[in-house]
Amino acid sequence: AKARGRNTWEVHDPSEADPAVNRMRLLGELRHGIEDGQLRVHYQPRMNIATNIAIGVEALVRWEHPTRGLLQPGDFIDLAEESGLIRGLGAWVLDEAVQQGAQWNRASSGQAPVGMAVNLSPRQLVDPQLTGIVQAALARHSFDPSLLILEITETALMENPEMALKVLTALKALGVGLAIDDFGTGYASLTYLKHFPIDELKIDRSFVSGLGAGNGDYAIVSSCIQLAHAVGIRAVAEGVETDYQRSTLLTMGCDLAQGFHYSRPLAPDLLADWITARPP
Ligand code: C2E
Ligand code: CA
Ligand code: CA
Ligand code: CA
Repeated sequence: AKARGRNTWEVHDPSEADPAVNRMRLLGELRHGIEDGQLRVHYQPRMNIATNIAIGVEALVRWEHPTRGLLQPGDFIDLAEESGLIRGLGAWVLDEAVQQGAQWNRASSGQAPVGMAVNLSPRQLVDPQLTGIVQAALARHSFDPSLLILEITETALMENPEMALKVLTALKALGVGLAIDDFGTGYASLTYLKHFPIDELKIDRSFVSGLGAGNGDYAIVSSCIQLAHAVGIRAVAEGVETDYQRSTLLTMGCDLAQGFHYSRPLAPDLLADWITARPP
């Protein structure tokens, strides 16, 4: 397409345009969208499998695009990562999530406070300002650091394990919890697992969804749970969709679960029941 000036794009349907051009357009829209407040955070409950009580939530970013509708991270996170926009985006999500967590915990006195899990991208992990950004968000909203969990993918950790160890140690010193996300999809060695100051291991959905299908996933999930417990950390199952998966995980001794079986990620106002209807 060629621009002839304002509002006079033409030639053909923009959806047929060069993918590179579409990417550039989406990138421009994302940059603007971040500044314009179009990002949202949805939250998915993190369940104690044994008690069936929500102990916290995971923050998952969404983009309320003015014309394309509600976009999922798969539509724009890679773009944000490659362009560097992820640093601003990630800092915004962290601040928003911590603020929301603090608000829920002020509103629900007498109940165990909710924990807040936030995803960190590989690019954030190598950002020298990361620790300061996390510390500032916690301080700004008077949020108990021990209630924050930062999720880092196995792949991001293994890109540069020495440097990851330094960053994790600095984050840990703030008092926050750390999780290895998408566990089983990369190549984390047991050596690193033992030395990283990690609090939980999140077993990737691809294995959890295979439970019951008569393949090797039963053994994989069971081994991951045992591995987590052997190094003294929690095991979390991602993507639990069926009651069969839930009960299998319970039998295996898995600690926490997330998934559509319990709830999809929801806008904060729709989660009120999950948060306030918990026992003390
Ligand atoms: P993730 O961290 O592994 O998050 C879990 C994803 O699985 C979420 O997708 C969630 O909606 C989805 N999910 C949860 N339960 C189920 C289930 O039972 N069945 C199925 N089929 N899916 C389930 P979502 O929200 O589209 O996020 C995708 C990925 O985008 C996340 O994977 C995470 O890697 C990334 N992401 C999301 N929010 C952020 C963020 O704020 N910052 C960064 N850096 N990455 C983010
Ligand atoms: Ca995650
Ligand atoms: Ca995950
Ligand atoms: Ca995953």
